[in-house]
Amino acid sequence: MASFRYKTFGYAAPSAGARLKPFCFERRALRPNDVTMEILYAGVCHSDLHWARNDWGWSNYPVVPGHEIVGRVIEVGPKVTRFRAGDHVAVGCMVDSCQHCDQCRRGEEQLCREGNTMTYGGLDRITQELTQGGYSKHVVVRQEFVLRVPEGLDLSRAAPLLCAGITTYSPLRTWNVGPGSRVGVIGLGGLGHMAVKLACGLGAQVTVMSRTPDKRADALVLGADRLLVSTDPDALMQSANGFDLIIDTVPNKHDLNPYLPLLDVDGTLVIVGQVGPLDEMSSVPLLLGRRRVAGSPIGGIAQTQELLEFCARKNILPESETIRMDQINEAFERMERSDVRYRFVIDMASLTEPADATS
Ligand SMILES: [Zn+2]
Ligand SMILES: [Zn+2]
Repeated sequence: MASFRYKTFGYAAPSAGARLKPFCFERRALRPNDVTMEILYAGVCHSDLHWARNDWGWSNYPVVPGHEIVGRVIEVGPKVTRFRAGDHVAVGCMVDSCQHCDQCRRGEEQLCREGNTMTYGGLDRITQELTQGGYSKHVVVRQEFVLRVPEGLDLSRAAPLLCAGITTYSPLRTWNVGPGSRVGVIGLGGLGHMAVKLACGLGAQVTVMSRTPDKRADALVLGADRLLVSTDPDALMQSANGFDLIIDTVPNKHDLNPYLPLLDVDGTLVIVGQVGPLDEMSSVPLLLGRRRVAGSPIGGIAQTQELLEFCARKNILPESETIRMDQINEAFERMERSDVRYRFVIDMASLTEPADATS
């Protein structure tokens, strides 16, 4: 293979907390099992915002965020068998893993013993160069981490399935949610609204749990059966032991104690947001009901493909607002105020090559 590197452009945060701005960079040379795709849509995840601002303390710069990527194949390496030019494809939160450990072998690449390679802010396993994400015109990814977008799934709305979707679908599958399951969803943002739609799609009875009744109408429109006000002691009492699984999508530090007694015996509360330390939690409801508190990170590649097929079949799509690339800083500010229903998706047709590009 020639060592041809792919010149591209996007939007990057040059340093912690800086506004995103146009950025020219190169993608790695195409390896034999690589797919080059033109990005058509990119979802805007809370992680993008946290990463751009170094909220977790481990960001590298410059960073091109974006790990909800939908596009079209434009070139494939000679050993690529699964894709060809013109295919509609997608990439999520990871772009590589060791491929041989026990977790990778059972399709749980997100749990790779050597650590998976993040779509942005990770290190390429061969060249050690910084990976860059989907707020850009092109991306090069090995075929094992490229998903197929099924016929019939609206490309302009599918992108949030690649992070918000799989992050909530995976625990629903891990804990065998199906017809008759009683599922609670805490928080009704990007992740929460997908948890509601997907749990409904699997046939569960779904309850949104919220501190105030304000979101009741929205919850019902999304398909939930009801909204439980988590600050109302009587309502909590009436719902005790009423849930098999509670998915907690709240993106900041909060108190789990009101929710634990809501779980039935052997019920699980699963945390899917990266919230850091939690408030103190009582062990009593855990012991008395053999209840569990668990965590769950995204999902494997095979399960992500399963999710895309499931959504195409059931006609489940994220609710999104389409923006232009140059509206990203404003979108970040609106996300901080929770002023989005429920995900921003960047239309990459709005991304033009910077005028001062030297190439
Ligand atoms: Zn994400
Ligand atoms: Zn592995």
